[in-house]
Amino acid sequence: MGDRRESDSRRLLRRLRDVLSMPVKGQERLDRITHLIASSMGTEVCSIYLFRDSETLELCATEGLRKDSVHKTRMKLGEGLVGRVARTGLPVNTANAPAEKGFRYMPETGEEIYSSFLGVPIQRVGEKLGVLVVQSKSARSFDEDEIDAIEVVAMVLAEMTELGAFGGDTGLALHKQPAMFRGTSGQEGAAEGRVWLHEPRVVITNPVADDPLTEIDRIRAAVGELRVSIDDLMEAEALDKEQKAVLEAYRMFAHSRGWLRRMEEDIQKGLSAEAAVEKEQSAARARLEQVPDAYLRERLSDLDDLSNRLLRILTGQGRDTGANMPENPVLVARNIGPAELLDYGRKLKGIILEEGSVGSHAAVVARAFAIPMVIHAKGIVAEALNGDAILLDGDQGIGHLRPEETVARSFRDKIAMQTEAQKRYDGFRDLPALTIDGVTLELHMNAGLMADLPSLVGSGALGVGLFRTELQFLIRNKMPQRAELATLYARVLDASKGKPVCFRTLDIGSDKVLPYMKPNDEPNPAMGWRALRVGLDKPGVLRMQLQALIRACNGRPLTVMFPFVSEFGEFKQARSHVFRELHREKSLGHPVPSEVKIGAMLETPSLAFAPDEFFRLADFLSIGGNDLKQFFFAADRENERVRKRYDVLNFSFLGFMEQIIARCAPFGTRLSYCGEDAGRPIEALAFAALGLRVLSMRPASIGPVKALLRVADLGVARALMDEARDRGAESAREALSGYLATLQA
Ligand code: PEP
Ligand code: MG
Repeated sequence: MGDRRESDSRRLLRRLRDVLSMPVKGQERLDRITHLIASSMGTEVCSIYLFRDSETLELCATEGLRKDSVHKTRMKLGEGLVGRVARTGLPVNTANAPAEKGFRYMPETGEEIYSSFLGVPIQRVGEKLGVLVVQSKSARSFDEDEIDAIEVVAMVLAEMTELGAFGGDTGLALHKQPAMFRGTSGQEGAAEGRVWLHEPRVVITNPVADDPLTEIDRIRAAVGELRVSIDDLMEAEALDKEQKAVLEAYRMFAHSRGWLRRMEEDIQKGLSAEAAVEKEQSAARARLEQVPDAYLRERLSDLDDLSNRLLRILTGQGRDTGANMPENPVLVARNIGPAELLDYGRKLKGIILEEGSVGSHAAVVARAFAIPMVIHAKGIVAEALNGDAILLDGDQGIGHLRPEETVARSFRDKIAMQTEAQKRYDGFRDLPALTIDGVTLELHMNAGLMADLPSLVGSGALGVGLFRTELQFLIRNKMPQRAELATLYARVLDASKGKPVCFRTLDIGSDKVLPYMKPNDEPNPAMGWRALRVGLDKPGVLRMQLQALIRACNGRPLTVMFPFVSEFGEFKQARSHVFRELHREKSLGHPVPSEVKIGAMLETPSLAFAPDEFFRLADFLSIGGNDLKQFFFAADRENERVRKRYDVLNFSFLGFMEQIIARCAPFGTRLSYCGEDAGRPIEALAFAALGLRVLSMRPASIGPVKALLRVADLGVARALMDEARDRGAESAREALSGYLATLQA
């Protein structure tokens, strides 16, 4: 770029800054800006389109188009050339706009006489704010320098839009309007609170700078500091492979010459160092978002993280350590790791993420804390501001940001109803789950963290029916040691105060990948080398865990369960490991448990067909319905598309459960169900009606399940199910829902 252009661009920015600092209202400011840009660029038209809501752009100011179309002409995201710029975040530059694909002219603006068109996005990192357009009659395409110049101007406009410079009389109010985000449920429950951004946005108040040399010094110093900080991080101990790989990518970005060069060029055009960082961040984002390769798109978050670090260095705005956390904080983040979530602990009222998954470790922690959680809420990070009011509906997977009063009111009603119901549940917390026809069910809870244990008292659970030991492995950076585990398991047993705890040995593989273990590249990990299969093939960890459990018992009873047993032989082998370790501990002079119960999880259909000897030998079985269901219906439990398609109340599944119950009966093998469905009242009723007597579920589900069981008659429920089946119904759901309605009436 020539010097003349550079100074042109700087001059334009300076004049722009003067206009921006004038004490005029928003509309006049916009009008002056369009006038200024058109005259500086030598075009007949300059228009600014801003988002009215997330889907609609509005012409907010123009030089050259008809003034009476301002605030009237609107278009949808993706509609016409302006809509295309907004959707893709990339410029459109054409000498012959009407011939361009997707062109759609707005007759009320009088734009049909303009042939050339240059539109650039007005955007801040991941946040689309609008489109800046210049048009001229002569059929010419704009050169690179002109595009650069207009992009720099758009960057400044983005910062000023964000700071509210165009609000007031224009009717445009960023971050003020109610917005709803629809995602997926990560953990049920409702919460009302205030936004707490895990990574608060950096505010840039000085997008234009007069002295490029100073700004270049600043950016070079900041990038230098950034590089050193990454090197420091890389040298830190206890980094797992994944963290190292991410940091390697950071280092590559941070040392990329192109990155620094582009930012320096932006500064030469008049931007401040901070604005240059954001401009490159937005541009790279827009480019990467177009890439079909998922791996490359993933790198977006690395790049964002790096740019944010650089901005923090430049502005001195640190990450808030939580000192200013509002009351009833609802965490808003792109994603969060389980350890970070544990740090926040129970302080959070809710969590809403743009990414994440139901089976993610963060979701597991949220569940342990019973914090309502919504995942896949796209766009919320850019829209939410710290302290904004927010409602979270974890059941529906919806977040209402800055909700209207009517929405808030009905939401509060829902929360009040839930609180009311909770009070009712508390009333019979210590009473048995006794049905009308005199059957008592045992309701236990699922757990996996120390943090779960207080619920043992609060929920009225009779014990821990499933303690998922892998969570302790998943939230660490390295393999826990035996002594560490023994201490932890002992604390779990202490906290359970004599109530039984069933420890499940490590269930890793499939979706649960330990950060410090080499991931196996398996075509189908859910059916791959996982859980007990790993334990038997490489028994080191299994033995270590069994030793830790025996030591933790210190003479108390031990209940241990193996996950994912597919055939009798595996169970026998696993069982012999327990005896071997008991023997070893005894010979070392350590106390052995007063009683040892060894059970298996039935998670694959094959185990239901094991020989009688298996049912005789197993002290107990627990149906892992989450896995069993996925294999029974051949529907991946992690795949939202197929997951919801199948129902455990389908008579095919219920019939299979009956077979399992019948296999256990002759040997008196204790049978429980510990998949998620045990915690749903109708499902729990159906399982009880089939003859199951032990259910293990999330602590929060115990109240609702017990409430139903205490008013239900299992004989009636069973008769209704049989009748439906005989009628040819495929599922028991309708019949049981009808019964539930009569009970509630
Ligand atoms: C199950 O599969 O039902 C189960 C309880 O185990 P997990 O969800 O941990 O796989
Ligand atoms: Mg399972």
